[in-house]
Amino acid sequence: MPYVRVALPVPIPQVFDYIAEDAGETDIGRCVRVPFGRGEKSGLIVALSAAAEVDAARLKPVLHIQREVPPLPQDWLGLVDFVARYYHAPLGEVVALALPPGLRRADGVSGEDEDPLLVVSDAGWSALQAVRRDSKALTLLRELAATGAPMRRSVVRELPQGAAVGDALRRGWLAPAPAAGGRERMAAAPALTAEQSAVIGEVSAAPPGFRAWLLQGVTGSGKTEVYLRLAQQVLAGGGQVLMLVPEIALTPQLERRVAQRFPAANVVSLHSALAAGARSRGFVQALTGHADIVLGTRLAVFAPLPRLGLILVDEEHDASYKQQEGVRYSARDVAVWRARQHGVSVVLGSATPSLESWHHARGGRYAPLALNQRAVASAMPAVRCIDTRRLRLDEGLSPALQAAVAARLERGEQSLVFLNRRGYAPVLSCPSCGWISRCPHCSANLVVHLADRRLRCHHCGCDGPIPHACPSCGDQDIRPFGRGTQRIEARLAELFPRARVLRVDRDAARTRAQWESLLATIADGGADILVGTQMMAKGHDFPQLTLVGVIGADASLHAADFRAPERLFQQLMQVGGRAGRGVLPGEVLIQTEYPAHPLYQHLARHDFDAFARMALQERRAAGFPPFTHQAMLRADAPALDDAVEFLRHARRLAEERAPAGLRLYDPVPMRLTRLARRERAQLLVEADHRGPLQTFLADWVALLYRQRTARELRWQIDVDPLDV
Ligand code: ADP
Ligand code: ZN
Ligand code: ZN
Repeated sequence: MPYVRVALPVPIPQVFDYIAEDAGETDIGRCVRVPFGRGEKSGLIVALSAAAEVDAARLKPVLHIQREVPPLPQDWLGLVDFVARYYHAPLGEVVALALPPGLRRADGVSGEDEDPLLVVSDAGWSALQAVRRDSKALTLLRELAATGAPMRRSVVRELPQGAAVGDALRRGWLAPAPAAGGRERMAAAPALTAEQSAVIGEVSAAPPGFRAWLLQGVTGSGKTEVYLRLAQQVLAGGGQVLMLVPEIALTPQLERRVAQRFPAANVVSLHSALAAGARSRGFVQALTGHADIVLGTRLAVFAPLPRLGLILVDEEHDASYKQQEGVRYSARDVAVWRARQHGVSVVLGSATPSLESWHHARGGRYAPLALNQRAVASAMPAVRCIDTRRLRLDEGLSPALQAAVAARLERGEQSLVFLNRRGYAPVLSCPSCGWISRCPHCSANLVVHLADRRLRCHHCGCDGPIPHACPSCGDQDIRPFGRGTQRIEARLAELFPRARVLRVDRDAARTRAQWESLLATIADGGADILVGTQMMAKGHDFPQLTLVGVIGADASLHAADFRAPERLFQQLMQVGGRAGRGVLPGEVLIQTEYPAHPLYQHLARHDFDAFARMALQERRAAGFPPFTHQAMLRADAPALDDAVEFLRHARRLAEERAPAGLRLYDPVPMRLTRLARRERAQLLVEADHRGPLQTFLADWVALLYRQRTARELRWQIDVDPLDV
């Protein structure tokens, strides 16, 4: 009796055997619905077997094998297997993360894409050419091929042999038509700059095969143009291109640019904001080879791409490539692995590479590429520190910054005040009794949101009205303490009553539509002064923007997180890069109490390399990544003791099997100990080399899965954690 081995989304590191009478080799990689416990679950068939691993009499039969779409290919199974092993996550959970939800539910696909446009697939054309016995599906196929145009499934059904449409789809002879393209004319490509040509020449001249490139190009140097040209070469050769961007909500401009440059190509977007049907459709188009370019956020790294020819990772330093819950994978690192698996190039691009990638480029693991000049003749902005130590600030704004904003207003140019803290004030406090607004569920303060008169926790999201008097002593003189974007916005509106002040943060741009409309307002000159968070730091062109004022940056200089300076430098360089992108020169003013700090000095000289060298020296001295490799075991429970006790136990288990050179730290409460009513603690494991760490983790994590834990305790392992 044949058995199938199924990966199921359950937190158990194993696959499950089921009976499947009619299953064959071609069912490997197909979604399947199976009974599980008292209910049902959807999973993926990862193997067939002749003998079951457990007592065959206890096995149950599968409920339904989903044969509407082609199976996921072997290399894709290899990909999820790698991710499961590297991040020590159950295979079924990786599969669940990698597959669009609509595809996974074996009943979902036809339901969501109710009436797709269908075309004859490559496999369909080959089937037509091959001499073989005629079938209803082939007759139907011939009919469609003769028509030569995409046809709705419902229309296909009405054809003489229309009943065979399901059969033709199952065999992969029909596939969803590429998205409407070709209507817009191809946008003209600009002549390349000398630097761009050199970079493209170098990549093109490399022998075929795997190579990881680090494209370090200053803001405005035209990295996107390099991506597009490299993509063009691959498309011309019949390959597929995978292009990853950190946040699709922040990159509608890029999506349009790609679609305009390649009107004939089928550009598919994949990101979590898509409706389930659209995401499944895009995924299937990638799988059947009908997508030429897959553009997406980190989850797009799991798109199956039979003709993969190139991977591009834009803003490779961006932390959002790392998933911070569940399977904690880094899409950038997985992208590099995929490129190696397929023997193709991967280009990691950034003006401010992660120190890890920069280090690899120095050490020869990645091939360095550089764009040091801006593409359109505009100078890099002048960066200056405003020493605020002896200044009287007006709601955090120095006289020099106010004067600079006023000068922009005179000239009809735009200014941006950058402050990476949204809300009105980070906390509400009572001067008479010392009460402060604490979140009841987290070890964090409630942020004052004056715009909608709420106190809100930025960690768990809970909120409530702003009290009129101190809840503790009744004093009515309670005050917002500190500053956020709303407060700066309000003060700027008072200082410059005729200016149009526009706030750009996550509260103002909750949806992609809101974000797009904000961008349009800025581009149309509908705002004079912008107040923005890091949302403003990401790759947009604002030609009228000539001043960036930075406030409140010093806090990151002394943060406990060893990555804080790297993040600060990246953010400031990126946001500074928004200034003076047009013909007008830009200026960046940083308010600081540490004007001589080397970080600001390097920034003033636009010298990322000098900063990176300095930061890496510090990391080497302190034994931080990339000079060591880390994994973090985190536990959370309603009571801190339970979390810590679990970690202590885990540590004892680890001590018994730790190889030489492995360092086990003491369990400690996390910095934000309490989050959403759960207390959190962590245990750091560190090694000088990745190999021994991985071997150890595989053994240890398997053991942890077998431990009986306190009720309500949860734990996760995080390999290459970003926040330590
Ligand atoms: P980056 O991503 O490196 O910050 P972009 O790719 O956004 O830079 O390019 C910055 C600006 O320069 C864009 O407006 C782009 O259209 C323009 N640009 C890029 N390459 C060229 C070129 N070869 N000739 C003219 N303009 C270019
Ligand atoms: Zn009080
Ligand atoms: Zn909270």
